[in-house]
Amino acid sequence: MRLYTHPACLRHDPGASHAERPSRLSAVTDALRGAFPQLPWEEAPRASRGQLLRVHDDALLALVLDTPVTEPTPLDPDTLLGPDSAEAALHAAGAGIAAIDAVMGGSTRRAFCAIRPPGHHATGSVAMGFCLFNNIAVAAAHACERHGLARVAVVDFDVHHGNGTQAIFESDPRVMYLSSHQMPLYPDTGHVHERGLGNVLNAPLQPGSGGEAFRNAWRERLLPALAGFRPQLVLVSAGFDGHRLDPLAQLELEADDFAWLTAELGAVADRHADGRIVSMLEGGYDLDALRECSVAHVRALIGHGG
Ligand SMILES: [Zn+2]
Repeated sequence: MRLYTHPACLRHDPGASHAERPSRLSAVTDALRGAFPQLPWEEAPRASRGQLLRVHDDALLALVLDTPVTEPTPLDPDTLLGPDSAEAALHAAGAGIAAIDAVMGGSTRRAFCAIRPPGHHATGSVAMGFCLFNNIAVAAAHACERHGLARVAVVDFDVHHGNGTQAIFESDPRVMYLSSHQMPLYPDTGHVHERGLGNVLNAPLQPGSGGEAFRNAWRERLLPALAGFRPQLVLVSAGFDGHRLDPLAQLELEADDFAWLTAELGAVADRHADGRIVSMLEGGYDLDALRECSVAHVRALIGHGG
């Protein structure tokens, strides 16, 4: 088990009172350092332009990396670009690249990237929903292109649907995208009928669903499909905004629900992927919930295989 972060990710400033604030990340890293003092931390490198261009277009790179900004500047009503945002975005995406190289190289089997800004709403061409670059998509593309994998699963349990990840891979049979999410909720995608080439599986959940409905959706629909895909690598968009304390959603989950799903993912990874899992932080906007859930998630990732 290996952990990745970078101090630049703390300096992305979307402006005062924004939910996606630097203290989210320090809550996660402080909690993990406290709970797992023995675990090694690695400094996340920058992603290269070439690595980003596997999933994003030139115009988005130019917008995020080359726009001169002196104060938080809105790209959409939720998504702001500040003077230090480009550096944060490069390291957030680079964390996944480094983690993929580590698990594919055999130096560890499990990795968790404590990073921000989050990524799963960013499409190939549009930064949106607090996300600048799609970190998990950059990681999945790296696994396919650099390591030649033919079956990479992206499991997304953030309470919001990862519209960006789905859009990037819905025509790419090398990647399977599986998501549970609250509906109705931003960004209003992730309906059951959205299937891509058959490599997309969405399980929308009603507000107030709670842990039993969440676990049933995974147990009955998503996990069997994941196992049937026989992933060579499991990537996780780990958003903890489904927790009952989260101010942005009403899915009413507990930390135990995230731990349960993580252990189930570990079993699939052990069976098909030599145990390889790379998990990347997405959402989660209550600091107490972030602390509890990130520790529960990493403890379950360590499991028997980390
Ligand atoms: Zn979210």
